[in-house]
Amino acid sequence: MKIHAIQTGTVAVTRAWREGVGHGKRRLLNTIRDRQWTEPLPIYAFAIEHPDGVIVVDTGETARASQPGYFPSWHPGVRAFREWVEPEQEIGPQLQRLGIGPGDVRWLVMTHLHTDHAGGLHHFPNNEILVTRTELEFASGLGGRLRGYVANTHWPAWFRPTLLELEPEPFGPFPQSLRLTEAGDVTLVPVPGHPPGQIGVLVDEGDQTVFERIRAYAAAHPTVYLVAHDPETGARLAERRLVHPTAVEVAA
Ligand SMILES: [Zn+2]
Repeated sequence: MKIHAIQTGTVAVTRAWREGVGHGKRRLLNTIRDRQWTEPLPIYAFAIEHPDGVIVVDTGETARASQPGYFPSWHPGVRAFREWVEPEQEIGPQLQRLGIGPGDVRWLVMTHLHTDHAGGLHHFPNNEILVTRTELEFASGLGGRLRGYVANTHWPAWFRPTLLELEPEPFGPFPQSLRLTEAGDVTLVPVPGHPPGQIGVLVDEGDQTVFERIRAYAAAHPTVYLVAHDPETGARLAERRLVHPTAVEVAA
């Protein structure tokens, strides 16, 4: 199976955001108030060339996000991140350069719907898009915007994803799962905690398992750990570098 890490530009967040300063509401306030920035971090999406068809995981960000007025200025959260995306870095043109056309994509799996994951939705008007019911409800409307889905007004008008309910079928240490492919080598698992409805994608390549976030799983299986904003993600994938369980960190 060929897996592509597709970088759709970069994002910097406040240092307090990355480090998590304080607890509860104070932590949120610190995140917004801090005027120190991380270095630009990659915004990754992924494409899995699978016999069932290409499985795209997230869409990265859109170049429009760099334009003034794209994010609502009333939202304090927009003070806590900056993004840099060029039009040719959007996922559509990048898939094209990889020789993957819209008709080749079997599923677009959305881990969650934050702007840096959902900014490229407009490239998939005719594809089946999968998102958990919990995540769509959490992310939608004014409530969703208040909860940090600052760009949900930019979702395409046609956006009607297939809503997933994970099944009460344990998969390793995960209490629920959803087998995506016929062969059972791509499985969706719950990874709540960033948003509650977030899912992770486990790809079983035989002797290696990729796209995985949880220490317990990494401890039991050799795992290449790919996350959206880790500068090392491209190299980890290229070298199939295995993660040490203690190095598994939660990432947006
Ligand atoms: Zn996020």
